[in-house]
Amino acid sequence: MGKPPNFEINSWLEGEPAFAEYPQLEADLHTDWLIVGAGFTGLAAATHLAQLRPADRIVLIEGSRLGEGSASRSSGFVVSLGHFDGSSRETAALYRLGTAAIAYLREQVQTHHIECDWNEAGRMIAARGNPGLGSLKRIRRALDRAGSGYTPVSSQQIKQTTGMSGYVDGIRQDESIQVNPAKLHRGLVESLPANVEVFEQSPVLSIQRKSHWVAQTKTGSITAKRILLTNNASVTKLGHATNRVFPMQTYIGVFQSPQNESSLFGDEPNWGLTSVERVGSSVRRVKDQLFIRSGAICGFAEGQNSAQQYKEIVDLQRQAMARRFPQNELECINVWSGGIGVTANGSQFFGQAGEGLFLSVGYNGHGIAQGTISGQLLVDLALARESELLHCIQGLPKPWWIPRPSLLYPIVDRYVEWLNWRYGDEI
Ligand SMILES: Cc1cc2nc3c(=O)[nH]c(=O)nc-3n(C[C@H](O)[C@H](O)[C@H](O)COP(=O)(O)OP(=O)(O)OC[C@H]3O[C@@H](n4cnc5c(N)ncnc54)[C@H](O)[C@@H]3O)c2cc1C
Repeated sequence: MGKPPNFEINSWLEGEPAFAEYPQLEADLHTDWLIVGAGFTGLAAATHLAQLRPADRIVLIEGSRLGEGSASRSSGFVVSLGHFDGSSRETAALYRLGTAAIAYLREQVQTHHIECDWNEAGRMIAARGNPGLGSLKRIRRALDRAGSGYTPVSSQQIKQTTGMSGYVDGIRQDESIQVNPAKLHRGLVESLPANVEVFEQSPVLSIQRKSHWVAQTKTGSITAKRILLTNNASVTKLGHATNRVFPMQTYIGVFQSPQNESSLFGDEPNWGLTSVERVGSSVRRVKDQLFIRSGAICGFAEGQNSAQQYKEIVDLQRQAMARRFPQNELECINVWSGGIGVTANGSQFFGQAGEGLFLSVGYNGHGIAQGTISGQLLVDLALARESELLHCIQGLPKPWWIPRPSLLYPIVDRYVEWLNWRYGDEI
């Protein structure tokens, strides 16, 4: 079985230069704009705002060290469409937003020479069991409605490309991108316009409306005319969207062949395959390592899972790998977790929540593209800049009401158990 894996070591950053350091907030500042949270949403908002309002003071405040949040911990699939259950109108709007986000990120990567292993090869979406085949049909229909190109990939083609056994049918969605998410995140931070002031390791503990908004941290405060909350499910800790968005933790494990036989992982040196179902595993190959994302639990973990939780996740991911590579035992080297913002119907929370207060959160695990475009459009909303894309996002369904965590989490746990039972083959 090999030695036990490291917990909370993010392989995307191994051997990479650290993120630049920014000061902690240690003063009482006044600003025109405050953006809370420097993930993909906050960075896109800050960049867009700085371009539109070069004379305004813009502060971006991050609670942890840059590079430690979900933006840098994700699987790195930048998808034009991640939610396949909506009406034709919703699907078309999401796809329009997703493709705009990819175009913007592509331009940022090219303009600022961001080295993030940007890979245009598309992603495979594939099923392993009968219920999963039904989901694949639904995904095909949604992509057809959206007009997003894909090509069928057979079980044999998947085996040849990836080395993985057990997939029965799939497609390759052409326009999805794969990146090293941490390198993309770092590049976007480094490309922030000079008129964005960044503070890190300064979690906002509360926000209150006085004559302006006042955000309090442990060592300072910021009084802002307008405030954008782009801090994912943690927005609920500030008392907003509590009945719409809730936190879940999900996990990535990194596996390799103990004998370094990377030929086990198929013909292509880099590939990505997502599951047809949320509880299913998505797998990426990056050279001689496989990154598997699977397993999820309700609540905030802040990188502090219990030993028992890690054990259960590693067991789950080892079993998932054993089903895909039945002839070869792979070694798990690193496992880490990260938070996502979830809503009951898969719709994000976007809009104005009070005078001068705007928020965009809850992308249900698809926030690289969706968060990026939402951050920009949140700025447009705050500046009352009309656009077709703003109408698109405002026309999306609103997230359904949810009860408080003590009632909600047991319901979600049961639902996940049911999904695991029904779509167990996809894990
Ligand atoms: C394991 C894993 C795999 C994933 N895979 C994918 C994928 O392949 N593709 C995809 O599109 N998405 C994926 N996601 C989801 C993706 O990471 C998120 O949707 C995306 O990061 C959301 O961007 P965001 O800016 O809204 O939030 P985040 O990236 O979470 O950024 C919010 C920031 O706010 C900060 N913050 C929180 N509270 C405060 C506070 N009080 N004060 C100041 N700062 C605060 C946080 O530290 C964080 O840095 C994955 C997530 C995980 C965990």
